[in-house]
Amino acid sequence: MQPVKLILIACLLGNSLLSCAQNNTNWKNKKCAVALTYDDALNIHLDQVIPALDSVGLKATFYLIGSSDAFTKRIPDWRKAAAKGHELGNHTLFHPCYGKRPGREWVRPERDLNNYTLQRMTDEIKMNSVLLEATDGKKKRTLACPCGDTKVQDSSYLYGLKNNFVGFRDGTPDANAVNPFAKVTVQWVTVFDNTGDQLIAAVKQAMEANALLVFVFHGVGGDHNINVSAAAHRQLLQFLKQQESQVWVAPFVEIAEYAKSK
Ligand SMILES: [Zn+2]
Repeated sequence: MQPVKLILIACLLGNSLLSCAQNNTNWKNKKCAVALTYDDALNIHLDQVIPALDSVGLKATFYLIGSSDAFTKRIPDWRKAAAKGHELGNHTLFHPCYGKRPGREWVRPERDLNNYTLQRMTDEIKMNSVLLEATDGKKKRTLACPCGDTKVQDSSYLYGLKNNFVGFRDGTPDANAVNPFAKVTVQWVTVFDNTGDQLIAAVKQAMEANALLVFVFHGVGGDHNINVSAAAHRQLLQFLKQQESQVWVAPFVEIAEYAKSK
């Protein structure tokens, strides 16, 4: 909330609210930044989401699992997506999560973070970056932690990876500690059956708060248990296109780099 407070203090010192808001706007002189992120390397991302984004000229981040079928069988398609300006984000090689948490029955023992070491986790994440670099030729990217789990035993694996990524798409305390967003209001929407109007309302709220808004998508029109309708997604994209003079939509890596440079 720091930037909002600063704006209010400046205004109390005598400037008009309007000019204060304009003078304190970050995000390339727009009202807010929006990161559209899509997790888990799904065929529907290539077949439906990227064409929808491209139709309105918006760029997004796709957090890819290196071992997934939709990645290994379609590397040329992901390469084309990257060439269009989308970020191929790192979502680890095998998507390990804590299997003992509620609702995690799907986690296989060999992919359970309880059975990992810190070294194995960081090695696998670095190898996934190598795989992604071989695909898109880029060295800079961001990481999204599977299931939002950031620790092996009691140690966070993010600190040791601080120099390997521009930023981490997570709001955990350790991600906050290493991310370049200390002076930024960050808002999150984990998209699960939201309506188009609800998604748009989140953008309007971010515009008012001068915030970075991060959308976390999985399925769009199917292909995942965590899903949103293609119509709601399309409605959001159309709104973002209409608001492009006021809302900066970019891959997460670009937004993190911008925040780092400030
Ligand atoms: Zn995931």
